[in-house]
Amino acid sequence: MTKKLLMGNEAIAHAALEAGVRVVAGYPGTPSSEIVEMVAKERAAGRAEGVHVEWSTNEKAALELLGGASYAGARCLYTCKQMGLNVASDPLMCLNYVGVKGGLVLIVADDPGPISSQTEQDTRRFGSFSKVPVLDPSTPDQAFAMVKAAFELSERYRTPVIVRPTTRVDHASAFFDIADRTRARDLIDGGFVRDPSHWVIFPRRAYEAHGEINERLPQIARDYASDTVFAAFNPLYGPGLAPLSAPDAVAAQLGIVAGGISAAYTLEALRLVEARAAACGAKVPAYRFWQVGTPYPFPEDEAARFAQGLERVIVFEELDSVLEDALTLAAGRRHLAYDVLGKESGDTRDRGENDVDDIAARLVRFFGLEEALAADDGVAPVALPQDAQLPARPPVLCPGCPHRGSFYAIKRALGKTPAVLCGDIGCYTLGNAQPLDAVDTCLCMGAGITQAQGFSVVEPGRKVIAYVGDSTFFASGMTGIANAAYNGHDITVVVLDNATTAMTGAQPHPGTGVTLMGPKNEPISIEAVLAACNFKKIVHADPLDLDAAIAAAHEAIFYEGPSAVLFESPCIQLVRPQAPVEIDHELCTGCKRCITEIGCPGIGFDPAAPGPKSGKRGTAFVDASLCNGCGLCVDVCPFSVIVPAAEAAGAKSDAAKEGGAHA
Ligand code: SF4
Ligand code: SF4
Repeated sequence: MTKKLLMGNEAIAHAALEAGVRVVAGYPGTPSSEIVEMVAKERAAGRAEGVHVEWSTNEKAALELLGGASYAGARCLYTCKQMGLNVASDPLMCLNYVGVKGGLVLIVADDPGPISSQTEQDTRRFGSFSKVPVLDPSTPDQAFAMVKAAFELSERYRTPVIVRPTTRVDHASAFFDIADRTRARDLIDGGFVRDPSHWVIFPRRAYEAHGEINERLPQIARDYASDTVFAAFNPLYGPGLAPLSAPDAVAAQLGIVAGGISAAYTLEALRLVEARAAACGAKVPAYRFWQVGTPYPFPEDEAARFAQGLERVIVFEELDSVLEDALTLAAGRRHLAYDVLGKESGDTRDRGENDVDDIAARLVRFFGLEEALAADDGVAPVALPQDAQLPARPPVLCPGCPHRGSFYAIKRALGKTPAVLCGDIGCYTLGNAQPLDAVDTCLCMGAGITQAQGFSVVEPGRKVIAYVGDSTFFASGMTGIANAAYNGHDITVVVLDNATTAMTGAQPHPGTGVTLMGPKNEPISIEAVLAACNFKKIVHADPLDLDAAIAAAHEAIFYEGPSAVLFESPCIQLVRPQAPVEIDHELCTGCKRCITEIGCPGIGFDPAAPGPKSGKRGTAFVDASLCNGCGLCVDVCPFSVIVPAAEAAGAKSDAAKEGGAHA
């Protein structure tokens, strides 16, 4: 064993390897991406024997692949972000009915805030919707333990199991004792055993399977209380945060319940409030605190025992009111006379992330300590925090990002032609920001191409553009491409091909041919896919060659019928930057076109730097620490005063020679 500092996601990967996982598959999505990458790293280093790991083309493909491997008796790990489970929901629902053989654990990382998602959906709800058990870690340590336990649970009941960390658990770090080497478990029963009555789902079998699911869920809820491994995920505390062996160990009227990262915040908040109360000479009323790490199936018997004698219970959780609803239901079903406070009652945040200060302030109110703790005794009060006034930092495309040239070329090609610009999921959603203002819609993965077809049907007078990234093209774009060609929709698909999955950390995809298992396979050509789908007009351009990019865009946009422009230029994360461009201060007119047209953060404007041509307007300047020399602004400046570094150096050298000759 070796002690290592690991991020939550890395710890999850190690836990799965130590549990003998044999097949790992997923699709990149923040905050989950590091799990697959860590498995690949361990395998490449020779420390994880017998494991297959891959980025699949999308989440559905990954889960279906794992379903097959699990039927053959392999332990399998699936990863995605919360939105990804929507894509994989079809196989998930059915897998639960068919059942699995090798343990199948899904890590679905939720994104409260949201920090990098379109929704704040709660995977615990997906658990109850699909009737799949859910474990909800509050720390990286707990995530590590839950992953191992989830494999056991999955095989015990032949059910997929979801482990649902959130961003702060995924990305927080802690020390772990990690096995130096791991080995994938052998296949259960030696492999797939044919049994059509089991593995082939027909309506009659689905009816029976539904009954089996309904029978096993209460048993799993009982396991959550009686199995010491699972019971440890639902710890109880009393005043002073002393661990309680049973709820009735403390006579209390107040109860606190929390799940996920909110449980860790609540422990910290309780410490703060108790310390503050002690400093003020105030007494915190007796309470019980229960962390629910096994939210589905909800351990209702345990909840009833916890709530015995309580009058009020406050619930801290992020995203949906899952625990709050379950406790309210339990109160009604068991005729227990406690009030439940939480999101629904307006007593806790109804969206976004929780934090320690906010929970502490709400606990002060819940305990009735506001007056006592507000006393001016020199000890900082625990106050309900106001939203912090931080400077706004709107997201923006990186300096030198080739997508900037693509968006600008499309807008220049369209001119004043009426158009709808459909975006998609990726860095390029940022094309909607000013001054580019080149994205009108963004729904979900792959939707840009299909939504564009809806616009073209009802508004034939407008040109309709659909942007799609190279990774998204393979993940969710191809069915929309086939639909456009099949139904003859007059749209222009603009493929923003930067040769990577940039937004989630530069993962490979089928268009790169690079795999996590070592060998590079032949890249799948996007152009060949488009051609195979009967796209008759396909043009290419380098988006940083502005004239060529505008010409290509024009040719595709004004073609009648489905057309495509392939803008090909690698993400700046993949290439060595060139020397920054320079602006000739003497010749700059201060017109600001370089800023107002493309909005690259590499260019600034100094109104206090007048030049001979700009007068009092001031002049533009290049921030050499940001500029990567992409050259797009060189083509944008109408006065040709922005020059590549080499050219600027040449001009200076010529001037020096000329000066020398005159001397
Ligand atoms: S660099 Fe060119 S575009 Fe920018 S302000 Fe000066 S003259 Fe105008
Ligand atoms: S060359 Fe111009 S557009 Fe490109 S990164 Fe530098 S400042 Fe930005």
